Amino acid sequence: MEYSLEWHFCLYYQKVLDINQKKNWTVIDIINWGTDFFRLKGIESPRLCIELLLCHILNFERIDIYLQHDKPLTQSELDSLRDLVKRKAEREPIQYIIGKTQFYGLEFKVNKNVLIPRPETEILVEEVLKYKRNFSEPKILDIGAGCGNISICIAKNWEEASVIGIDKSEEAVKLSIQNSNILKIENIKFELMDIMENIPSGKYDLIVSNPPYIKKSEYVTLMPEVLKYEPSEALTDNKDGLTFYRRFAELLPSLLNNNGMYFLEIGYGQSEKVSELMTKSGLKFDFIEDFNKIRRVISGFKYT
Ligand code: GLN
Repeated sequence: MEYSLEWHFCLYYQKVLDINQKKNWTVIDIINWGTDFFRLKGIESPRLCIELLLCHILNFERIDIYLQHDKPLTQSELDSLRDLVKRKAEREPIQYIIGKTQFYGLEFKVNKNVLIPRPETEILVEEVLKYKRNFSEPKILDIGAGCGNISICIAKNWEEASVIGIDKSEEAVKLSIQNSNILKIENIKFELMDIMENIPSGKYDLIVSNPPYIKKSEYVTLMPEVLKYEPSEALTDNKDGLTFYRRFAELLPSLLNNNGMYFLEIGYGQSEKVSELMTKSGLKFDFIEDFNKIRRVISGFKYT
């Protein structure tokens, strides 16, 4: 028999009340309870999850959990927390529940209309920034900007650059503009554009993208957190995973200035096929590996 969340919560609540009459729920009680509960539900990193939810409700930094572990929660705090715990138990990603995530040292607002930035994508940003000395006042294009994480991190760390991020989702564009405003980034703009349908005007010194590269057959096997909640259009092309690289191979030679560079995130096992596409378009290529020694980014110059 599967017990409801309510049941578990009531049971535990009751237990604590029984053991220790009229005991208030403190921060540490909640952490212990939540860790057990999420573990029971098969949620990954159960303790981290309950800590993040609690911090969100109490407006705490993580350190406050330890400094104020015996602080009792009010009834309304408990009620709000219960709703969030329920969402997490249904596998909603924690970043959507608390509405934010960290990427390359900055905080980004996220919602269900955008992909949650992944830590491995920081490799792409880091790689781009290695070339700061090669360009003065570069024009940079980010294709499929999502919440704006890649473009904003590049713009923030490269003041002379002018960055433009495009995305085909109106909601994503809205959110990326909001993120750049919150972070006070001025050398950036975002526009609504579907790269499969349109061609950006002008030429660029650097073009970056983390396109939807998961092939359909693999996409359907992903964990429920991803499948049920993240926008499928940001993850898969619903085909062989290479649709966007074909389009890039077609567009990059004319969109890049001479000696311009491209940086594209790629998926596991795609390096050979993507590099073939780039070679056919007359572009050089190189790979950057991630911490697991997987080729994660393909980059290269357009030679004169
Ligand atoms: N640029 C965003 C990221 O890398 C979104 C990418 C996407 O939606 N495929 O996280």
